[in-house]
Amino acid sequence: MEERKGRRIIMFPLPFPGHFNPMIELAGIFHHRGFSVTILHTSYNFPDPSRHPHFTFRTISHNKEGEEDPLSQSETSSMDLIVLVRRLKQCYAEPFRKSVAAEVGGGETVCCLVSDAIWGKNTEVVAEEIGVRRVVLRTGGASSFCAFAAFPLLRDKGYLPIQDSRLDEPVTELPPLKVKDLPVMETNEPEELYRVVNDMVEGAKSSSGVIWNTFEDLERLSLMNCSSKLQVPFFPIGPFHKYSEDPTPKTENKEDTDWLDKQDPQSVVYASFGSLEAIEEKEFLEIAWGLRNSERPFLWVVRPGSVRGTEWLESLPLGFMENIGDKGKIVKWANQLEVLAHPAVGAFWTHCGWNSTLESICEGVPMICTSCFTDQHVNARYIVDVWRVGMLLERSKMEKKEIEKVLRSVMMEKGDGLRERSLKLKERADFCLSKDGSSSKYLDKLVSHVLSFDS
Ligand code: UDP
Repeated sequence: MEERKGRRIIMFPLPFPGHFNPMIELAGIFHHRGFSVTILHTSYNFPDPSRHPHFTFRTISHNKEGEEDPLSQSETSSMDLIVLVRRLKQCYAEPFRKSVAAEVGGGETVCCLVSDAIWGKNTEVVAEEIGVRRVVLRTGGASSFCAFAAFPLLRDKGYLPIQDSRLDEPVTELPPLKVKDLPVMETNEPEELYRVVNDMVEGAKSSSGVIWNTFEDLERLSLMNCSSKLQVPFFPIGPFHKYSEDPTPKTENKEDTDWLDKQDPQSVVYASFGSLEAIEEKEFLEIAWGLRNSERPFLWVVRPGSVRGTEWLESLPLGFMENIGDKGKIVKWANQLEVLAHPAVGAFWTHCGWNSTLESICEGVPMICTSCFTDQHVNARYIVDVWRVGMLLERSKMEKKEIEKVLRSVMMEKGDGLRERSLKLKERADFCLSKDGSSSKYLDKLVSHVLSFDS
């Protein structure tokens, strides 16, 4: 590791696993290059710092004494995600400003602030005020960002808001997307979604650079497109999680990998729909029967509370799991990186969150794509039609017969070379991190860029 004593980077992640994980991985990358890292984290979803001993953690608190907490568990558990993001931005704007000011006033030179793109332009205003440069981390892909950046155009042209009668129409300005792939979500406040997206894009435009958790060979055209729109330095240095041999601490509970050890190579369907998604009980039961009827071994992550109106598995028919026996396993959380790297896993049934997408690509595991909201729709379209490493199983068609059919065809290699292409794409991902690979070169540029700020 190179030594850059006295060079500190302040990071401000969005407090959700899909955003926090890549930020902490990026912290590890900077740390390996000799920087020290301070993580400013919201008191909301505050992580366990002992899992990340190399970094200094500071809590940013939002709660005013004597007032009710607008971000309490009871307030937020069933909150519309867009409303929650707005709340987070409102509640933490001022505490964030104070925290950064306190950090920058300390002894060590602060090179820059790295903030999650979703925090938007406010972080730029604060950075300017305090006299520190700001770089943005975009935790999603470049292809979906292009679609986000095109929202004003898509609204002008009448693609947005989406009309049910146009779902299958191509969006000619953003091939290969169809109207149904546009990165929107069900929300009670559609205008708020546009505001959050616009703030993200404008915040990236006014930054001193954007770091992408992607690699050039995967998203070259989209990166070029974003670059011409944003006109700031670009650093596609991903996939972040591959920099470290052991990026996440191993789970104490080795239950899932022990079970995988007993399965045949490439025989298991791993099903997981990310850290945020909630489904209806009816969908849950269709998934359960679909998995069972496919007669493939499965490892299925069902987060407690992720099936609406239930605690965990109580809506499964009596004896369902006993009947399946050792052929299937349901867990509350898995160490996904370990699971995807396990030789027994033959396919990943995913919601196509960007981290899950990259993690699957990096292990050469074909995907079954059931996207739920925002960028996941774009990711699914690219997985299926551009990289051709997955099959679509649309949420609206998620019914047990269809599930069984798609699962079987992917697992029985009727997937038309899916596995071969997945392994080829894995090789390209491996190469980008080699000494001559694009991500390694961009990382060198990023380090020089950040060091140039205080000269
Ligand atoms: N994840 C995990 N175990 C699980 C489910 C998810 O480790 O049981 C991790 C996964 O590896 C990924 C992140 O949680 O890094 C989810 O991020 P993604 O962008 O895929 O989806 P999101 O949760 O943001 O919708």
